Amino acid sequence: MVNADRLVDTFKFLVGIDSPSKKEGLISNEIKIILEGLGAETFVDDAGKKIGSDTGNLIARLKGNKAVPPLLLNAHMDTVSPGEGVKATFKDGVFTSDGSTILGADDKSAIAILIETIRVLNENNLSYGPLELVFTICEEVGLLGAKHLDFSLITETLTEEEAQNEAQRCLQCDVICNICATVCPNRANVSYLIEPMDIIIQRATQTGNIIQVRGIGRFYLSQSFQIINIGDFCNECGNCSTFCPTDGEPYRVKPKFYITKQGFDEAGQGYMLLNGTLHFKNDGKFEILSLHDDSLIYETSDITAILNPRTFNVKDIRFKNNDNCSIEMDHAVKMGILHQALKDFYLFR
Ligand code: SF4
Ligand code: SF4
Repeated sequence: MVNADRLVDTFKFLVGIDSPSKKEGLISNEIKIILEGLGAETFVDDAGKKIGSDTGNLIARLKGNKAVPPLLLNAHMDTVSPGEGVKATFKDGVFTSDGSTILGADDKSAIAILIETIRVLNENNLSYGPLELVFTICEEVGLLGAKHLDFSLITETLTEEEAQNEAQRCLQCDVICNICATVCPNRANVSYLIEPMDIIIQRATQTGNIIQVRGIGRFYLSQSFQIINIGDFCNECGNCSTFCPTDGEPYRVKPKFYITKQGFDEAGQGYMLLNGTLHFKNDGKFEILSLHDDSLIYETSDITAILNPRTFNVKDIRFKNNDNCSIEMDHAVKMGILHQALKDFYLFR
């Protein structure tokens, strides 16, 4: 359905229009004309006035023909330097500039694809819900357009809390995100596969000689693709955080594993899988989890617990001192999940 020649022409047309940050007016106007010709209602917000650009963010709405919540699609209109006077050539299926400027594929390829998508939807009478296309200004100089976007022009489909949760989770772009794994120059972020699961988190309480174990919440693991960071390889350059599409910082927030004993010994915090046993240390305190027959044994300086290896529920627990105290088993569950997913992983064999 995609008209490849038309897509090539659209991209060539777009890269031929200069649009450095703060001078997106020309290209915005051209996109507006094209999309209005395809039936869109367009708006330009006042972000440009606030950040010194010659135009604002362009918002285009298409009603679609299906009663479903709207879908927001986004691209940015500005380019980095040197991006003026681009002369693009297309040979053997590859676009290049003449070498004196950038090409501007970031992000005009996305704009071209969005335009082609609307054309394909329209000319094939396909069924689709409302679309809201947002073309931002000044992305290359600190996402300024997005930061000043007039959200009253956008349909809110999430509450503020839901939006924050969405921004924090690890996205599955396409089938798998993995951007942090691909952009790391040291191959320190590694993706692994896990079964989605829904686990009850428990709290064990000791009062005198009585021990009680109660469920206190749930932990949902909804995505199959997960990331670990290999501490021996990571130099904390921060590149993966720059490219992560959410507000996560993969090298800081993903479980940090060491594959050398020296790396683990020198680390303040991290995991190591040694002969099938998962070790964790944090600020001089250690936790160990290992599989014996049909049980996981979880050990800290305070407790020894026997866990079900599938549900991670406590089968038995012993407190190592006589004080009245309680412990939440959330980290035992996290270690159980990591152990289950990674005990046979190629890096730790
Ligand atoms: S941490 Fe960020 S870059 Fe890495 S997989 Fe998750 S969303 Fe993608
Ligand atoms: S911070 Fe670490 S994981 Fe991230 S890109 Fe740099 S070396 Fe790779």
